[in-house]
Amino acid sequence: MADVALVFSYRFPGKYALTALAGALETDRTLSELPLFVPRDTSALIDTVKAQQRVGRSVVVAWSFYSPSLAECADELAQLRAAVAEPFLAIAGGVHATAEPLETLRAGFAMICIGEGERPLLELLRRVREGGAIESTPGFARLVEGAVVRNERFERIELDAFPPFSASRNLFGAIEITRGCIYACRFCQTPFFSKAIFRHRSIANVVEHAKALRASGRTDLRFISPTSLSYGSTDESVNLEAVEGLLAGCRDAMAPEGRLFFGTFPSEVRPEHVTPEAMTLLAKYVSNDSIIIGGQSGSDRVLAASKRGHDVAVIVQAVTIAVAHGFRPDVDFILGLPGETKDDVRQTVQLMERLAEQGARVHSHAFMPLPGTPFREAPPAIIDEETGAALDRLASRQKLYGHWRAQVEVAKALSERRR
Ligand code: SF4
Repeated sequence: MADVALVFSYRFPGKYALTALAGALETDRTLSELPLFVPRDTSALIDTVKAQQRVGRSVVVAWSFYSPSLAECADELAQLRAAVAEPFLAIAGGVHATAEPLETLRAGFAMICIGEGERPLLELLRRVREGGAIESTPGFARLVEGAVVRNERFERIELDAFPPFSASRNLFGAIEITRGCIYACRFCQTPFFSKAIFRHRSIANVVEHAKALRASGRTDLRFISPTSLSYGSTDESVNLEAVEGLLAGCRDAMAPEGRLFFGTFPSEVRPEHVTPEAMTLLAKYVSNDSIIIGGQSGSDRVLAASKRGHDVAVIVQAVTIAVAHGFRPDVDFILGLPGETKDDVRQTVQLMERLAEQGARVHSHAFMPLPGTPFREAPPAIIDEETGAALDRLASRQKLYGHWRAQVEVAKALSERRR
């Protein structure tokens, strides 16, 4: 039986996945005591791997990342390989590895996880420890003579079967309440990665983990969901009874000083779900004074082409309702969506300015042709000077934030890499 250590490369935003995977270790009695390390930078990562090898452990190093982070994760792996003489097993997972297995494996990872990682990681660690056939671990893929070989896959998990974080290791994070998304926005990787259905964590299960988080001394509880007000729903409708059950249960679990953050970072709400009833409910329970609303474009034509499932009027209505109920709306927009004309851009900037006047802030993004999405082959965003100047004017009034300039460069790099 080998002595095994697991080392996670800690990087935003992949850290959310790593917290959940640390939680998954708790479900297997034989792995719950496995040494786990989460070094915060490359130099600490190198030191950790060397230290574990010195004490005779087989080391598995894991990365989880989105498409824009492939290059930096691959670079970190290259630095680790250059610095460490002894062998270690480098694995990767996340949406990019799933959508682009060949590119990810060619970047240097020995094995990659296709799809969600809980069950595959547990099985891999058992095999490393017991000397089993690592290469054939279900859920993973590897390169054989330059071609991707994919192993069979596990069934998708029930969220209740796995903790959202690891209380025993004091590795806490936001609680994932919903995985997968029934909407089919053409720029988004979520439905592709986690399937186009909702899987919800039950209220009882969320409350149990909220209690563990509170018992650790933490006071703030956040949630991960592709669309927060879809909690408890199987379709496009909103199930306010389920949302209230969730929030009421969590408020009790976090009492008396606990604070709930719902419909805000790291999640958002769809605009058509912002109703007076929903906002009244949120105002009763949550501590956030802002909510994040997915708007994406000020052009009905672009919204329809992106299969957003709502129009511009609904975005305006959502902002009006949110403001009337005391929330500051932070509205997500994506510039440079495929097929966008100058007139579409003008409409989007006008909508941003209008919503800012109403009390919203704009969260600006540049379109990125993400692997796995219907828009993966589309050209990257180009944001002209006039539009950039309009965004800068909004930012100078504290009405806009976001990394759209950096995303233009990331989008270009993604397209070039694919070519
Ligand atoms: S953008 Fe939001 S609503 Fe649309 S598919 Fe992605 S997660 Fe679902």
